[in-house]
Amino acid sequence: MARKTTGKKEKEKTDMADKKRYCYAFEEGDGTNKKLLGGKGAGLCTMTQIGLPVPPGFVITTEANVDYLEYDKFPEGLMDEVHEYMEALEKKTEKGFGDPNKPLLVSVRSGSALSMPGMMDTILNLGLNDETVGGLCALTKNERFVYDAYRRFLQLFGKIGLGVKDEGFDEIFEETKKKYNAQVDTELTAEAMKEVCAHFKDNIKKQTGRPFPQDVWAQLYISIEGVFRSWMGKRAVDYRRQFNITPEMALGTAVNICTMVFGNMGNDSATGVGFTRDPGTGEHMMYGDYLINAQGEDVVAGIRTPRPLRELRTDMPDIYKELEKLNSTLEKHYREVQDYEFTIERGKLYMLQTRNGKMNAWALCKTSVDLVKEGLITEEEALLRIDPDMLEQFLHRRIDPDFKQEPLAVGISASPGAATGKVVFDADRAEYLGNQGEKIILTRVETKPEDIHGFFAAQGILTSRGGKTSHAAVVARGMGKPCVSGAEGLDINYELKEARVGDVVMKEGDIVTLDGTAGAVYLGAVPMLDPDLPKDLKTLMEWADKYAKIEVWANADTPDMAQRAREHGAMGIGLCRTERMFNEADRLPLMRNMILADTPEERKRWADKLTPMQRQDFVEIFRAMNGLPVTIRLLDPPLHEFLPSIEELINDVNRLREFSQIMYAMEQLPGTVAMLDPELYKQMPSIESLTREVGDYRAKGLDQKLLKQKEQVLRRVRVLHEYNPMLGNRGVRCGISFPEIYDMQIKAIFEAVAIALREKIDARAEIMIPNVCTVQELVWVKPRVENLHKEVEKRYNVKIKYKFGTMVEIARACLRAARIATVAEFFSFGTNDLSQGTFSFSREDAENKFLPIYNTEGILRHNPFEILDELGVGRLMQIAVKEGRETRPDLKIGICGEHGGQPQAIEFCHRIGLNYVSCSPMRIPIARMAAAHAAIKENQVGAQVTRAL
Ligand code: PEP
Ligand code: MG
Repeated sequence: MARKTTGKKEKEKTDMADKKRYCYAFEEGDGTNKKLLGGKGAGLCTMTQIGLPVPPGFVITTEANVDYLEYDKFPEGLMDEVHEYMEALEKKTEKGFGDPNKPLLVSVRSGSALSMPGMMDTILNLGLNDETVGGLCALTKNERFVYDAYRRFLQLFGKIGLGVKDEGFDEIFEETKKKYNAQVDTELTAEAMKEVCAHFKDNIKKQTGRPFPQDVWAQLYISIEGVFRSWMGKRAVDYRRQFNITPEMALGTAVNICTMVFGNMGNDSATGVGFTRDPGTGEHMMYGDYLINAQGEDVVAGIRTPRPLRELRTDMPDIYKELEKLNSTLEKHYREVQDYEFTIERGKLYMLQTRNGKMNAWALCKTSVDLVKEGLITEEEALLRIDPDMLEQFLHRRIDPDFKQEPLAVGISASPGAATGKVVFDADRAEYLGNQGEKIILTRVETKPEDIHGFFAAQGILTSRGGKTSHAAVVARGMGKPCVSGAEGLDINYELKEARVGDVVMKEGDIVTLDGTAGAVYLGAVPMLDPDLPKDLKTLMEWADKYAKIEVWANADTPDMAQRAREHGAMGIGLCRTERMFNEADRLPLMRNMILADTPEERKRWADKLTPMQRQDFVEIFRAMNGLPVTIRLLDPPLHEFLPSIEELINDVNRLREFSQIMYAMEQLPGTVAMLDPELYKQMPSIESLTREVGDYRAKGLDQKLLKQKEQVLRRVRVLHEYNPMLGNRGVRCGISFPEIYDMQIKAIFEAVAIALREKIDARAEIMIPNVCTVQELVWVKPRVENLHKEVEKRYNVKIKYKFGTMVEIARACLRAARIATVAEFFSFGTNDLSQGTFSFSREDAENKFLPIYNTEGILRHNPFEILDELGVGRLMQIAVKEGRETRPDLKIGICGEHGGQPQAIEFCHRIGLNYVSCSPMRIPIARMAAAHAAIKENQVGAQVTRAL
């Protein structure tokens, strides 16, 4: 490969062509190849090549680092190249490396393909020694500056090149400051700095057993090796592990060798950092900080307070203008906001680094729209800049990111958002206090349907047990309230109305703050930020819908949720879990009675009472979703979930029995006392009246009546009890065992459509059957649907259109999709159950017990309940899509498990050809963005393939 800079003979060039090349001058490196040149090196090359003022230099590639680590020595030819490029630098700068009269000084900086803050090593002023300092003094006429540079170099070189700890250097420096009564570094004179340098050299000798190398080439070799080794240093390895940086993403660090420029050469020199736009707001303005007469590390170290970049306009107007121009050149080239470092040396501006600017979500949205308006990027590129999950920040209250405090307890981030309120341990009390206007955090070991009124009253929900699909988590998410579940450190005692975490006791009424996004619980109120929708989000969402192919629907169980879903842009309801409608205080007793009924007739009687309530909810949902499909799933959970627990009932029954015995004993009391002690009996005249009162009370038989009821419920709960309810009599199995329940629901749906149609509402019901494993289950249910459909059409004298379909959430249903599609007009993947079934993991047990171990041991990379397992669960889905559509080509297929709101899964669903994803109303913007990403990325890949052909 030919080199532009070295001017070697043709023959040598040809020889080099066979060798691996390790060095590239900034003029020649390919700025798009960050993997080879590292981010910093690539940026320096690009800036040089687009005509920005970069001090001359070159990059040693990441490959050189990899080869060094492999052979544990410099790879063959590397140092020859380094010499060659240093010579070229000498020519360009007209200085000499190690020349005591005109010394060339360089910086040596690491830089891998991905930015890894905290691991980046930088050595400045390399090339200084006891001789060259003299030359530099003569050149700069500033002894203090030179010895300051020398001591900085000695420390950095000692640390990075020779592994000498900072502490020794810092001590020496502090002692010198004390000796000369200096508060800050700048108060030290040249003489004091000279002293520091001498002590630093002694320190190096003491710590390493060898003198500080005066030979500048030795300095360079040692520094390059130091940077190379830092790639495998603990800091860097930990960082890569923490942020999942794989070798495919970044392998090895490049070493950038760049001529030194000095921002501390007087008041016409400065150093600073800039952003081409404000990273906090996205505003197009000069943003950044600078310090006059300082080196880069002074800005970072915070010794002096930097000034806002806009003030440079008055300090150095020409440079300011140059920077303005440079901002625009950088953005035009990178088509992205840039974050750069610069130095001004005696009135001349130099660029030392540029990279894509990291911005907060608000700035990212604004700049996405602005960059499109300015014609710098396309709409597709603007959308791809935005990580869909980031949109979550706009939708919920959140803890102020500046707040840093250890949480009292941590649990599972079950429902995002943050809330502060008083701890209350039962739902009734939560409701009572909530109605008084108090802010409440409902705190339970776990929640049940009968706690629902407490949910309504609370700002947030906290449980000590349960995972992301616990009742608390699912209901809170549906309501958009923050929830921390499974905070196992909390020891809740209902009797004492307190919860303990170690020694800390949280009493009812104490204030706590929940961070449902992070799964943390704090004592007291914590500063929070309100949800804040950026004004550009609407534009971005419109663009997203334009590119997306897969539709986004919502999981919504109530009219309120449906309304919210529509506001967020849902194109339909993909899952209305009807069981949630029974949770309200006036409905639960009816539901219980229906379940407790001994005969079908009695069950129907109770079911008939529930019909109007369900019907009313459906009507309201149809109103909210006018013109859009509403998928209503018939009852799914096992029935005993609606009943009190066996333990609670046994407790009640025992108490009532004891009460009866006590009452009986009291009735017998006069006779018993008389028998034991006739004298005492005579002294207790009131005993007869007490006995009479007890007798009267017993005659009413209230306790007996209640006892009988409780015993009956207990019997029924025992009958309904299942060893493994998630695999038991639930969903369609329950519907077949107790047909009155499904009949009631189907009737309510059709009647609601009829009522809505009369109001001229375009109600589009889709009836969905849960937990189907064989087509025969659908064959059993369908005629009941058809009969009720006919009956309601006739009674209301309307034509009702509807669809009949099924959840696909059992592995067998995937494998029998071809047959199931003969009856089902649509499929909806229930990936919550499908994931549990495919792995044979119960989610709660898995997440609380072995999944974290599986993740850390690398047995499973992800939690399959959060990240869709494409290889297993996804494969089953693919089979179902393919075979289902072979039977019914227009089969509509969606997903309504939690993965439906997860960007990676949405991309997968797009790829396998689903028509829609359905997720909780609050995730709809995220899903819309993810749907657009999926389509745009597919187009890009498609375009690449076409180009390759
Ligand atoms: C599912 O299993 O994915 C699903 C949506 O149903 P549920 O979570 O209600 O069991
Ligand atoms: Mg399910």
